[in-house]
Amino acid sequence: MTVLEKGNITIHTENIFPIIKKSLYSAHEIFLRELVSNAVDAIEKLKMVSYAGEFDGDTDHPKIVIKADKDNKTLSISDNGIGMTADEVKKYINQVAFSSAEEFVQKYSGGADQPIIGHFGLGFYSSFIVAKTVEIDTLSYKEGSEAVHWICDGSPEFELTESDRQDVGTTITLTLQDEETEYLESPRIRQLVKTYCDFMPVPIEFEGEILNEQPAIWRKSPSNLTDEDYLEFYRYLYPFQEEPLLWVHLKTDYPFEINGILYFPKLKPDVDVTKGNIKLFCNHVFVSDHCEEIVPQFLMPMRGVIDSPDIPLNVSRSALQVDRKVRKIADFIAKKVADRLKELYKEDKPQYLKCWKDLGTFVKFGYINDEKFKKQIEDLIIYKTTADLSAGDSDSANVQVETEGDAWQDVNADGGISQNGESYTTLAEYLERNKERHENRVYYCSDAVTQATYVELHKNQGLEVLFLDSFIDTHFISYLERDHSDVKFSRVDSELDENLVSGDSDSEIVDPNTNKTRSEQVKELFETALNKPKLTIRTESLKGDNAQASPPAMVLLPEAMRRLRDMTA
Ligand code: ADP
Ligand code: MG
Repeated sequence: MTVLEKGNITIHTENIFPIIKKSLYSAHEIFLRELVSNAVDAIEKLKMVSYAGEFDGDTDHPKIVIKADKDNKTLSISDNGIGMTADEVKKYINQVAFSSAEEFVQKYSGGADQPIIGHFGLGFYSSFIVAKTVEIDTLSYKEGSEAVHWICDGSPEFELTESDRQDVGTTITLTLQDEETEYLESPRIRQLVKTYCDFMPVPIEFEGEILNEQPAIWRKSPSNLTDEDYLEFYRYLYPFQEEPLLWVHLKTDYPFEINGILYFPKLKPDVDVTKGNIKLFCNHVFVSDHCEEIVPQFLMPMRGVIDSPDIPLNVSRSALQVDRKVRKIADFIAKKVADRLKELYKEDKPQYLKCWKDLGTFVKFGYINDEKFKKQIEDLIIYKTTADLSAGDSDSANVQVETEGDAWQDVNADGGISQNGESYTTLAEYLERNKERHENRVYYCSDAVTQATYVELHKNQGLEVLFLDSFIDTHFISYLERDHSDVKFSRVDSELDENLVSGDSDSEIVDPNTNKTRSEQVKELFETALNKPKLTIRTESLKGDNAQASPPAMVLLPEAMRRLRDMTA
């Protein structure tokens, strides 16, 4: 064996520091992700070189092979990629953290289907987190290259020798530190490959088996994917779960690059909506299960994948939150979700309604928290209403409209969606429908159970009531009021207004026995019963013929008092 060169690894302090620091904190296991992603890059690079006509060997059988040898405590990762010449080893390996990715991409832009992963995490030197010795055995594709063998024990000293390797490609062999031998165990290796490398575009073989065979469908064009493709992918990511309600396919190159598919799951009590469920990838490589900083908080229940090389990986979470690019990505995601909702609202109202029951709360949460999102979805917020907007009950009120696609749909002329006897409407539709009777006034119910009688009362008076009775609505209503300052929102159990009372107490029947009107009798009855003669009790009789059908008497709190009570409750 002829020694070609002995020397010192050039360490640029500005580069090594973040690496050392990181390795102290990072999970040790990430070394495998780094080595496999380098192998994927090497294979992609060979394809690019071949495309450029500089290599005419086989690039049709790309493969990465992982081998564990318990006796020798070695773990090796082999690829049939581009390989390295002795000079390249000196340049890219000996100079810590000197990536060839950029240089390479500049030189060979065409030919690759996949991006070069490059500049990712800790890079090659992360192998020293678990290895006491690292060896590289490599042969470059370049004509006349000699295979070389590089060995380093983690000190800045390396040794470069000739190798008898015959095939173009690279094998990295780690001799593991004694306390890191878990990385020789078959289940551990399988689990790591599954976690980090499942969607990598090159087959990874271990113990005679290919461990990753998942296409990263989020990189495909939406026009080449069917609903079934999306559903299948969801089932793969979240097995044994109900089908998702809807999904959005994120895809853009500018001003940042992002690919991904996000799903809205059917909400179940066991779905923890406060925790992110989205997997973050960087060029196919799994990075983390936490996307909290990238996805707007109100979209937290979403699941799926986001793949973006533009999300800084090595900065702290709090820094990520203020990162301008990351904020733009969050806006982009929110906009995509809004667009999808808009599309569904326009094209498939029954499906929209179905989704709304699960999504409504989050859309309202978004309305409250995100001004931009609010503008995008405010016309899509629907409320359950006491009005009967079902199509078909009156032919003249319903029209068939051709939606943008080819489907015909029954749409009520008054707007709204109706399903199984329940009707839903937007605020604008409500105001329009009721403008003759009560302009800029909305009657709403905040608790369908305790306010049932009041709702009945309004219904009997021919007044339409909206239900704002989910837990977020108490909060949401104040934002609605703020944004619609010209509209008065009256809760059904607050003070009766002119639309309900007759305001004409002269017409009240006088009891000949007591010589008092019914109102006066009721008033006295309550004063005695409550033993509070000083309490202001106002009685009103109801308008119209329907008054008979209403409950005979009811106690109402003035709006201001009611709010006070709600606040102190
Ligand atoms: P990066 O992947 O960001 O370029 P790394 O530290 O992971 O940085 O790797 C440094 C360089 O070493 C790579 O850019 C590449 O030139 C070279 N390299 C590492 N692994 C391989 C491999 N398996 N085959 C060919 N070259 C490799
Ligand atoms: Mg790398």
